Amino acid sequence: MDMTTPQVDRAPVKTEHFDVLIVGAGISGIDAAYHLSKQCPGKRFVVLESKESFGGTWITHRFPGIRSDSDLYTFGYRFKPWTGAPIATAEKILAYMGEVIEENDLARHVRYRHRIDSASWSRKDRRWTIDALRTDTGEATRFSASFLWMCQGYYRHSEPYTPEWPGMARFKGPIVHPQTWPEGLEVAGKRVVVIGSGATAATLVPALAGNCAHVTMLQRSPTFFITGRNANELADTLRELEIPEEWIHEIVRRKILKDQATFTRRCFEEPEVVRAELLEVVRKFLGPEFDVDKHFNPRYRPWRQRVAFIPDGDLFRAIREGKASVATDEIETFTETGIQLKSGETLDADIIVTATGFNLNVLGDIAFSIDGEPLEFSDTVTWRAMMFSGVPNMAWVFGYFRASWTLRADIVADFVCRLLKHMEARGAAVVTPELRAEERDMKRLPWVDAEDFNPGYILRGVDLMPKQGDHMPWRHTQDYWGDKDDLPRADLEDGTLVYS
Ligand SMILES: Cc1cc2nc3c(=O)[nH]c(=O)nc-3n(C[C@H](O)[C@H](O)[C@H](O)COP(=O)(O)OP(=O)(O)OC[C@H]3O[C@@H](n4cnc5c(N)ncnc54)[C@H](O)[C@@H]3O)c2cc1C
Repeated sequence: MDMTTPQVDRAPVKTEHFDVLIVGAGISGIDAAYHLSKQCPGKRFVVLESKESFGGTWITHRFPGIRSDSDLYTFGYRFKPWTGAPIATAEKILAYMGEVIEENDLARHVRYRHRIDSASWSRKDRRWTIDALRTDTGEATRFSASFLWMCQGYYRHSEPYTPEWPGMARFKGPIVHPQTWPEGLEVAGKRVVVIGSGATAATLVPALAGNCAHVTMLQRSPTFFITGRNANELADTLRELEIPEEWIHEIVRRKILKDQATFTRRCFEEPEVVRAELLEVVRKFLGPEFDVDKHFNPRYRPWRQRVAFIPDGDLFRAIREGKASVATDEIETFTETGIQLKSGETLDADIIVTATGFNLNVLGDIAFSIDGEPLEFSDTVTWRAMMFSGVPNMAWVFGYFRASWTLRADIVADFVCRLLKHMEARGAAVVTPELRAEERDMKRLPWVDAEDFNPGYILRGVDLMPKQGDHMPWRHTQDYWGDKDDLPRADLEDGTLVYS
């Protein structure tokens, strides 16, 4: 919890009712608001956001170099052409989202500085009651909503994940997490060690290299990277031909998605061939003297963790130019002046950055209940990774790991709008996923199969997440290419969605 948040000073005086309440004004929440306003124009809705502005991930993270690692043709919305370079800075993503809000008159629906603390469903009233704290005034506010659309992302924005290492208190310099990067942190002339080698570390290291004395990326084990120009040839050609931007957006999306589908399939069918190809590119950047196997050849097969994109090979160029280096080792202890490694080597540092990931958070750290009974999401089974068994009138957006998150946000939005219209046509106020009699003993599986995808933040939090079953519609497939065809056709009357 944010310690700077004022305490509640009084109970809410009134309850405002909405047909739909969207939680979060990140890229998913703004997407939900857009689709709802277009596809269900009759619905009254509100977006509640605890921060002071929209953007979620893209305003929380302010570390040097912050950028996407997906291309914006697919990370951008289906309905709003992306016209810049494929990999974009947070600033450009925020500007794009700002245009979407402006062009579609969405600002009037969003209430900032509203942190939702609890949501309770009443079977009798057939609605959610949502209590939110105004983080600027400390005022308690209360809303009710017929339907909750959860767009709160997947990690706790207020508190990053930093492991405990021996001797941390001894280190004399700042220990900084990229999620809470201090404004104005001076790196010029400093030796920086970045712990971690995920997408964040791979963004930070080239951004710091050249601005500080030296930067070392310290990793326990290597990560796969893919590199290429930060340009899209097809888009450039279409622009030369003066094709309208709407067409370019759609054509380039399709091409990128087709290429990604092929790459993903190859990662499963011929992982060792893909491994060799990825490492070959790294070797070309770093030359024959560099120990690519030690530092860039992961133990896992490609795509078991997100493969970060390195635009123009900037991470490798920084290493080749001697501005950055990599250490693959384990931390024995922090010292006054740096880090002692298990190999016996030491890394001198003035600043240590812990790019060690997130705290997975289950549905926004909101205390949920149904008729006063606390709701544990880990006891529920997911309905197509969007809804939960026994939980009425709620959908959430959990995006893809192997494709852009926003692709899923658009698909879920279409689905929710279809479901809301179906309920109206059927005269139903409530929809609840329920396991059919023959499914009550169905095998319960973890939210994510660790054999398939196993980054640390998922493994650390998977016990808190909803379960999945062993067949549809109770699966969380992480398969964009299947979802895009299946979800628009998902049977709303197959007996697993119970209406009243
Ligand atoms: C540095 C970084 C780079 C990334 N790059 C990519 C990328 O290139 N491609 C990709 O596909 N994914 C990327 N991701 C994953 C990324 O988080 C998602 O793609 C996407 O931005 C998530 O959007 P979202 O709106 O679902 O959630 P978020 O961006 O997490 O936004 C959720 C919003 O909900 C609000 N909220 C949460 N709980 C509450 C509450 N209780 N009350 C009120 N408001 C609440 C939060 O304040 C936040 O504004 C990246 C993540 C990080 C950290």
